[in-house]
Order: sequence, then C-alpha cells, then structure tokens
Amino acid sequence: MRAFTYERPDDMANALVAIGKPGAKFLAGGTNLLDLMKVEAETPQHLVDVSRLPLTGIDEADGGLRIGAMVTNTDLAADARVRERYPMLSRAVLNGASGQLRNQATTGGNLLQRTRCYYFYEPSAPCNKRAPGSGCSALHGYNRIHAILGASDACIAVHPSDMAVALAALDAEVEVRSAAGTRHIKIADFHRLPEATPQKETTLNPGELITAVILPAPPAGGQVYRKVRDRASYDFALVSVAALVDLDGERIRGACIALGGVAHKPWRALEAERGLTGATLSDDAFAAAGEAAVRGAQGRGHNDFKIQLAARTVARALSDAAKQRKA
Ligand SMILES: Cc1cc2nc3c(=O)[nH]c(=O)nc-3n(C[C@H](O)[C@H](O)[C@H](O)COP(=O)(O)OP(=O)(O)OC[C@H]3O[C@@H](n4cnc5c(N)ncnc54)[C@H](O)[C@@H]3O)c2cc1C
Ligand code: SF4
Repeated sequence: MRAFTYERPDDMANALVAIGKPGAKFLAGGTNLLDLMKVEAETPQHLVDVSRLPLTGIDEADGGLRIGAMVTNTDLAADARVRERYPMLSRAVLNGASGQLRNQATTGGNLLQRTRCYYFYEPSAPCNKRAPGSGCSALHGYNRIHAILGASDACIAVHPSDMAVALAALDAEVEVRSAAGTRHIKIADFHRLPEATPQKETTLNPGELITAVILPAPPAGGQVYRKVRDRASYDFALVSVAALVDLDGERIRGACIALGGVAHKPWRALEAERGLTGATLSDDAFAAAGEAAVRGAQGRGHNDFKIQLAARTVARALSDAAKQRKA
C-alpha cells in the first residue's frame, strides 16, 4: 500500500476544501476503497473521511424519501418506511455483502464501489480501467462474471452494486454537492457505459460529494428484487433483477425492470417494459419480456449462460411481483 495522508472534517465546507488537495479522495465506510488501496488499484495521496458529516438521516421529501449518503446499508434496509414503501430496495440491500459489511458500508460508497473484475484487482494484468491503454485481460480471458449488455472492446466489466439496481427501477436521483453548489443526477445518467474510457465510471465531476439519494413517491404495484449468485451466504450477482408490476385487474398497467450483473451500469430494460404495458397478465407475457430484456446481448464465452439466465430471471421476477400485487 502506498503512503497517504488522512483528515476527517467536521463540516461540509471543510470537506469540500479538503477534496481539492492533490490526489484527494473521499473515504466513507472504507469497505471497497481500502481493499483497492491494498492492491494499489487505487492510490490516493490524501483521504478525506466524510463519516462526521451530517449525512446520516432518512427524511420525508415530497412524498418520497431523502436518504443521506452516510446512511449505512444496514440502517437503510431496516428503515420501516423503506421496507414498507420500497421493499425492492430493502431486499436489494440485504442481498448485498454480509451483515458486518452492511454495518460499515454506506449509501454513497455503495453507488461508487468499483467492479469486481478479477483482473482489475491484479496489478500484473493489463486492465484499461486500472491502467488506461494497457488492454483488457477479460476479453479473451476468464470472463464468467462479465457483461452481456452495453460492453465495449475496451472493457466488459459489470457494476457490482445491488442497491443501485433497485434505485434504477425506482427512478431515484443522486444529490451531489461541490464548491460550485448542489445538483441532482438521475440514477439512469449517473453510471456510464465503458465505451473507450472505462476508467470513467460515473458522471460525477472531480471534487463532487454525494450528499443524498432521493426516492420519488413510492410507485404503485408489486415490487421484487431477485438475485442469482454462486453462493447464498454472500456473493455478487451473476444476474439480478428489480421488477415492479402494476396491474389493473388482469391488465398490466405498467412495469419497471432493472438488471444487475449484466452491464457496466444498472441496466434498465425499457423495450421489455414497453412490451408489457397494456398486455394481459400471463406467463407468456413475462417470458416475452425476459427475451426482450436480453435482445442484443453478447456473451464472451464463459459468460454465455448469463443470457438465458437473465431472460428467465426477468420473467420470474415479474411473475413474483405480479403475484404480490394480486395477493
Ligand atoms: C466481501 C464483500 C462482499 C460484497 N458483496 C456485495 C454484494 O453482494 N452486493 C453489493 O452491492 N455490494 C457488495 N459489496 C460491496 C460493498 O457494498 C461496498 O464495498 C460498499 O457499499 C462501499 O461502501 P463504503 O461506504 O464502504 O465505501 P468506501 O469504500 O468508503 O468508498 C467507495 C468509493 O466511494 C467513494 N465515496 C464514498 N462516499 C462518497 C460520497 N459521499 N461522495 C463521493 N464519493 C464517495 C470513495 O471515494 C470510493 O471511491 C461487498 C464488499 C465486500 C468486501
Ligand atoms: S473487463 Fe474492464 S476491469 Fe476487467 S480487465 Fe477488462 S478493462 Fe479491466
């Protein structure tokens, strides 16, 4: 690990000044950043610990909720309002990591955690994300956990967050602050596809601090988060699906579908959603939505299985969400 300096400001103004120092990076729970520093995939010169900033509240906001960036994953999943109004979010967070990690991990850090691509963590392996221009070891290497949608020849990594998948289905917004002021970024626009610059993973500007995640008023309909992984104790998603189905009798009034484990960002299946709107409730309609969700998907060899797995997981999650609504 490289040497670094550390400070823990007590207020926002000082944090925003501190992040302007050379090589500075925010530190929240540290559950991802410190691991990356140990393998020198990240080498910040200065850490700005944001744990003392007043960002730990979950507050009512315009019919929805405003979740502070330092709310831990444990507190977010356990909040009675989140469990009742946004059950897919609570389930997604509880499906991530282990109890100990969720006690330490934060809302802002979860959104900005980095890929679990094996080669990204291996300093001797070419990796365009860690060392731009060095190549992508996963393209022709072992790519079982990699992307089937939205990838590029520069990078086929996937975003690992479960929470972000539910936030994508819920149309959340990310509130960020910098010396220039506060702005809001739609979650759909927050994470980027890799294109030619996989090292740039979000649309955050240098020095911007995530202060909150804003949930709009809870959507009508049944909500489900379904995650498929290699082991049940804790593991990242091979494929996950956040599904929302709103019914009017036997007619589907609307649906929202977001997938995890398949792309460099949470993947919203808009074509599948459109196909479901107005359709009659049936397993066939959900199977067709699953197929639509993976239209254009490309396997890279070891991860070919993900295409069918994703289609079936979408169909199953939609069916479960519809049953919740009908019950
Ligand atoms: C063994 C293991 C298993 C895991 N399994 C899962 C899983 O199944 N699903 C899942 O979703 N996650 C999983 N995780 C990841 C875990 O959820 C993340 O490590 C955690 O959410 C990161 O939060 P943190 O507060 O610790 O972030 P940190 O490690 O402190 O920071 C992560 C990044 O976010 C930046 N950052 C943090 N807060 C802010 C802020 N407010 N504004 C701007 N930048 C900020 C930091 O600079 C850093 O770049 C796992 C982690 C481990 C170690
Ligand atoms: S998939 Fe992305 S993160 Fe993995 S080796 Fe290739 S460039 Fe690096």
